[in-house]
Amino acid sequence: MLMMTAEETVRGMALEDKIALCSGANFWKTKKFPEYGIPELFMCDGSHGLRKQETGGGDMLGVHESRPAVCYPSEVTMSCSWDEELLGEIGRMIGREALYQEVGMVLGPGANLKRNPLCGRNFEYFSEDPLLSGKLAAAYIRGMESCGISCCLKHFAANSQEKCRFNSDSVMDERTLREMYLSAFETAVREGGPSAVMCAYPKLNGVHCSDSRMLLTDILRNEWGFSGTVVTDWGAMNDRIRAFEAGCDLNMPGGSAFMEKQAFLAVKSGELDERHVEESAQRIVRLVTRSKKSVDENTEDFDTFPAHALARRAAAEGAVLLKNADRLLPLSENTEIAVIGYMAKHMRYGGSGSSHVTPYTVSQPVASFMSSVYAEGCDSKGNTDAQRLREVSGAAAGADSVLVFCGLPDSSESEGFDRSDMKLPQGQLDMIEAACEANPNTVVILFAGGAVECPFMDSAAAVLYMGLPGQAGGEAAADIIYGRTVPSGKLAETWPVRYADCPSSGYYVKEKDALYLEGIYVGYRYYDKAEVEPRFPFGFGLSYTEFDYTDLERDGDEISFTVRNAGDFDGAEIAQIYVENPQNGIHRPKKELAAFRRVFLKKGESARITVTLSDRNFSVWDGGFVPVRGEYRVLVGGSSRDLPLAASFFRDGAEPEIPEYQNGSWYEDLSGAPRLGDLEAATGRKYEPAVPRRGSYTMDNTVDEMRRHSLVMRLFAFFTRQFIKRGVSRRERKDKSNPVIRMQTASCLDSPLRSMQITGGIRDGIMQGLLEMANGHPLRGIIKMIRGDTETKKRLKTVKRHDSSKAKDHE
Ligand code: BGC
Repeated sequence: MLMMTAEETVRGMALEDKIALCSGANFWKTKKFPEYGIPELFMCDGSHGLRKQETGGGDMLGVHESRPAVCYPSEVTMSCSWDEELLGEIGRMIGREALYQEVGMVLGPGANLKRNPLCGRNFEYFSEDPLLSGKLAAAYIRGMESCGISCCLKHFAANSQEKCRFNSDSVMDERTLREMYLSAFETAVREGGPSAVMCAYPKLNGVHCSDSRMLLTDILRNEWGFSGTVVTDWGAMNDRIRAFEAGCDLNMPGGSAFMEKQAFLAVKSGELDERHVEESAQRIVRLVTRSKKSVDENTEDFDTFPAHALARRAAAEGAVLLKNADRLLPLSENTEIAVIGYMAKHMRYGGSGSSHVTPYTVSQPVASFMSSVYAEGCDSKGNTDAQRLREVSGAAAGADSVLVFCGLPDSSESEGFDRSDMKLPQGQLDMIEAACEANPNTVVILFAGGAVECPFMDSAAAVLYMGLPGQAGGEAAADIIYGRTVPSGKLAETWPVRYADCPSSGYYVKEKDALYLEGIYVGYRYYDKAEVEPRFPFGFGLSYTEFDYTDLERDGDEISFTVRNAGDFDGAEIAQIYVENPQNGIHRPKKELAAFRRVFLKKGESARITVTLSDRNFSVWDGGFVPVRGEYRVLVGGSSRDLPLAASFFRDGAEPEIPEYQNGSWYEDLSGAPRLGDLEAATGRKYEPAVPRRGSYTMDNTVDEMRRHSLVMRLFAFFTRQFIKRGVSRRERKDKSNPVIRMQTASCLDSPLRSMQITGGIRDGIMQGLLEMANGHPLRGIIKMIRGDTETKKRLKTVKRHDSSKAKDHE
């Protein structure tokens, strides 16, 4: 049989079916239309392991069980490897497991930048630097796509907080958007070639990402050449008509057709050009056909052993050695050790929410280290007491060395809410101190999805940061501690000494909207120029061996240098190449990462590394990326603050005018705190927060926004809470910090009514009726709830009657 093209298939479809194809069938599937030869597509989360929910309606919250899958380290750990080849292998391995589990599209990875350490989903993102984020995402995507599995890059764009994530406004100037937040996606799209991109929940400068033609068509497709499908984040669709025009193809999840009916009427009335619907439908046909073919043709089983080995390698490569006084590590395998900490038995291997994976197995640290001495030290939340601390001291005092396993509990970081501070629980800090006092050879092993304050830095002899290391985390920790793997990970984000040092700490998640006052000065771009000493700089990480950098040569944009392993162990080094910018014109970060290379060298061995820089490394956004003329330096070394090689040179280019807003602004010298006035001057717009008011609430308002003034919304919130609690065990119900309950509650109460209707698959009229009531029209509300949306129903009837009489005339 001759295969039809997507264009031919869609041409033969009825308008209603074309529109229906553009919204999901349920939580995880697209609709199938056998009459047109269109199969369904199953998709699931999975940037660090699949989360295939086979039973029930599915949920983004990790509450329903998912089918077991290999759990790799989260992006926070993968990224510290700076290893594109490894990321490619993980992408490929997850792709192969997806084929085996008959999942056609995997939702991930996330290329959002780590703007502030408190973002609840930072563990799902790679870095504070767009180049590193983009390169790693691209490598992962290439790996996965090579299996024929579609990879869906998310969350496009400017989604760097969880607070009010469904309808907050990300306000930033164009330069910040282009140089920072879009840049990571640009590299991931151009170099990775994902089949799909997921548009994010929030608005960008006042426009919902799902409605933004500028983002989804002008930039993504026309500028970057993306030819795949745009999928909404779950419940992110704002206005189906605008979204079709914007190039937003698939409305996920499925279950409610209220927006689709409006789109149908809009085409019929001429408000929406059918061409937009057809283009979206064609892109969806291409996506599902290709994925289905890959899944159908797969005959391979999936072997979890090599996958576990890969997860172990990735966790060890992504581990960052932060301190190693007097070369305490590596320990000999015969050392008498005491193992301390609740997390030694219950390691935090992955994140909550939609990145929650049910692993086949978890290698706990306690089983990976041979020790007969164990003290729990604290409970699951990191609380301790005098008795537990006595046990810690006792256990630690009798050992040669002590391993303290600790980190952020599940309840402190998750999708759905942000962290409230950068601290570890006090009980854990007390436990560390007790161990350090009892034994100077104490090693702290940290599990956390992001930077934490480290008051124990002086007391602990060694500190190893494992991030969220996945199912093989325990074995990987042992590999590093015993020197079977020489640590080579480098931080992909700066660790400030204290949260207050972070430029956005004064305003981040304090209000509903996200005001990007700090502009391009995120992470090291801020700390370097503001001359704030971080606890650990971007790109920092120790090794058991040592590397020398010599012989820097520059030939135009080609940079060559030699790295030599001058220490006593074979090991890998991550060489980092930065460009230091001239500071006498348009404001710029002091330096920016331009390239990086990971090399494995046996002791005594050296390698000559050559990288080629491009115009982009010397550019600023000024209506387009323009290379700027001036005196530059290229800096090379093993961390952003340890760059022994430097070469100065002049590079020709344009001389962009210094923008008016720059003079006297915070961006010039970064002194004090970033100011709203500077952002307003940079965007050329006054910022006016939208204040939701009774009488003019819309489907874009949330229960939380309306309940202060509306009894019905207060009741709705009450019953929602009860409903959520019914879904968990009695013990969990009592625990106010339970991340699942917190996330579910936030996801419902912070959800605009339109999103609730989509994600809940709620019948027409219910949400609209509630909205009428909240706006002070109880009777109208009740009628709407009972009768549904009568206006739309009537219009649909008329249109259909008209269509069928036309069809009869035709006959
Ligand atoms: C998350 C996405 C996820 C989707 C499906 C959303 O709430 O933001 O990252 O892919 O749910 O689980």
